[in-house]
Amino acid sequence: MIERRKTRQVLVGGVPVGGGAPIMVQSMTNTDTADIEATVKQVAELARAGSEVVRITVNNEAAAAAVPTIRERLEAMGMDVPLVGDFHFNGHKLLTKYPDCAAALAKLRINPGNVGKGSRRDSQFAQMIEIAIEHDKPVRIGVNWGSLDQDLLTRLMDENARAAEPREARDIMFEAMIQSAIGSAERAEELGLAGDKIVLSCKMSGVQDLITVYRQLADRCDYPLHLGLTEAGMGSKGIVSSTAALAVLLQEGIGDTIRISLTPEPGGARTREVIVGQEILQSMGLRSFTPQVVACPGCGRTTSTFFQELARDIETWIREQMPRWRKQYQGVEDMQVAVMGCVVNGPGESRHANIGISLPGTGERPVAPVFEDGEKTVTLKGDHIAQEFQGLVQAYVESHYHPREGSDKRREAG
Ligand code: SF4
Repeated sequence: MIERRKTRQVLVGGVPVGGGAPIMVQSMTNTDTADIEATVKQVAELARAGSEVVRITVNNEAAAAAVPTIRERLEAMGMDVPLVGDFHFNGHKLLTKYPDCAAALAKLRINPGNVGKGSRRDSQFAQMIEIAIEHDKPVRIGVNWGSLDQDLLTRLMDENARAAEPREARDIMFEAMIQSAIGSAERAEELGLAGDKIVLSCKMSGVQDLITVYRQLADRCDYPLHLGLTEAGMGSKGIVSSTAALAVLLQEGIGDTIRISLTPEPGGARTREVIVGQEILQSMGLRSFTPQVVACPGCGRTTSTFFQELARDIETWIREQMPRWRKQYQGVEDMQVAVMGCVVNGPGESRHANIGISLPGTGERPVAPVFEDGEKTVTLKGDHIAQEFQGLVQAYVESHYHPREGSDKRREAG
């Protein structure tokens, strides 16, 4: 069991973050927020994929003016996913001029390195915090190494240079990030924002840097922490880097909400970042979101790609069923389905799954035994093995998982 770091609990809309709540998966749109139709569509896609909170950029007046309509359209679609507004240099002006924008958002993200320069920084930061207090909204103080408060960094570097035993510049940069986050949170509390309205993040783009900074940040405060590797990259590089960094921290109990910053492949789905976030948590046994399909890697015993296709198709089909299953069948997200490539070694793995199939390997009889709860129940053969197995998975779900409260289905567990 992983012992989670103890934190205050912050409510984002109705979604709890920290304080023992399940680690929340969030995401961010890449549409122009002023394009209401495109933004509503993408927020809805992200929410349907399982994003429990969605962040949108609020970078100009057109975006700020669009936010209340985006909220209304989502409500009309029955989507109550909380929206977070991402603000930078002009956030104080936008929130003052568009109070309905502040009211429609569930949280404000403030980057202390981007709230203004010099003497204006403190007053602009204070203005945003006062608006958060007025609208009773939590904030995320989100420090990013690429936009670190340069005045603070310079001051710490100068102090370090004068020290008897100067530390490495890299350590001073980490210290500046942590001081920027914690110092801003303390300033927000002095301004009257409640301590349970603050989430912190210190995003870095290097795996080891992220781990080092969050370990220190976790030691020095009890605010809930938003984890994410910034600029993680595209494809497998982004997924692997994010997983490597987050897995270490999550294993140490650090992290209350995660966002995977993947650069989508051209034409790729934005929802990928949500699925990767869920898969990290589920593969670590921290949360369950969707049944897992276990497939063997394949070897010389099978030259057919049929088992790979079946594994992919069954996984896609299960994801499509999940919005309905999640509402109807309690615990279905813990189900394990195995798709194995031969009947020599496949049955062993299939037996450990809730339901599993072993397809015929090269030279084996063209039959596919199916196992449910460790027992062989049926042997499939012929041209419709994939469809028949899908039907068996559906029947397994219906007979083994209790209906959720409020669901109109009433079945006993098998
Ligand atoms: S289940 Fe069969 S095909 Fe798959 S890796 Fe094992 S031996 Fe190879």
